[in-house]
Amino acid sequence: MRPRALVTGGAGFLGSHLCDALLAEGYSVVAVDNLLTGRLSNIEHLRREGQFEFLQLDINRTFDCGEVNYVFHFASPASPVDYMVHGVDTLKVGSLGTMNALDIARKNNARFLFSSTSECYGDPLEHPQRETYWGNVNSIGPRSVYDEAKRFSEALTMAYHRYHGVDTRIVRIFNTYGPRMQLNDGRVIPNFMKQALRGEDLTVYGDGNQTRSFCYITDEVDGFLRLAGSDEHFPVNIGNPSEFTILDCAHRVLEITGSKSQVRFEKLPQDDPKQRRPDITKARTLLGWEPKIDLDAGLRMSLDYFREAVTAEAAIRA
Ligand code: UDP
Repeated sequence: MRPRALVTGGAGFLGSHLCDALLAEGYSVVAVDNLLTGRLSNIEHLRREGQFEFLQLDINRTFDCGEVNYVFHFASPASPVDYMVHGVDTLKVGSLGTMNALDIARKNNARFLFSSTSECYGDPLEHPQRETYWGNVNSIGPRSVYDEAKRFSEALTMAYHRYHGVDTRIVRIFNTYGPRMQLNDGRVIPNFMKQALRGEDLTVYGDGNQTRSFCYITDEVDGFLRLAGSDEHFPVNIGNPSEFTILDCAHRVLEITGSKSQVRFEKLPQDDPKQRRPDITKARTLLGWEPKIDLDAGLRMSLDYFREAVTAEAAIRA
């Protein structure tokens, strides 16, 4: 029997790539999304796929998607710009939405995988971040709508595991990039790619010495599937441990796009983490996982997508 998987947030950046990977692995997939930040264009290519179904609905209300063997809970605004615009919705999907998704897993005796985040570590005082680190999060700052929703969802996931015996997994996802990222979601890679391709200044926030570690989408999704296939109930970091300053990232984008754009420094947003790099010892040991695609290769692989997105947007504006 072909396993059936529910993917919440299935029309989003991560969710849609996860749907592709599950279908390729022989699953049948039901994707749900309210299209707040997800887009139908991300799953357009799956329309005629017999094993794929899409339901446009709000998971903050109880819903029925039929019997499933797996629940991959990926619904949430995820870029800082998006979650700050949709603050209350972000808190709702990371509480009510998670509870509804967990209830579906419980009812179906399905395995549940929650998409958590490196934001659980906040502005980390431990570096690199291991899963045992409890984090340094401002519970009332502008990022708290996302960080605390994800932390609450982790707590809820563990509670469903401990109290209701649900077979749960938690992945802590670090910065991920690649095709299908929204051009205007405000994250650093789409911003820099868009600005470089348009010949505009690259906006580096602060002095650009803050760091991030960027994982290419296919590596990331491979980590999700391996974790789903493991027996680990506690969180596992999935991210690329190669760390770059944001200024360095800007220069790489300029080189790969061949752009003559300049760098312009702008104000650093409040509570912007100063450093971020996953310790992936646990993923390496437990899952035999590590990323294969470095930043330069991944940016090159994303270039056509960003070029087309910039051209399409220019055509709409004209
Ligand atoms: N950033 C930047 N310029 C931009 C967008 C983002 O310098 O146009 C910085 C941002 O301040 C942060 C880093 O790049 O330090 C990563 O930001 P992003 O929004 O991609 O994700 P985060 O890791 O903060 O969730």
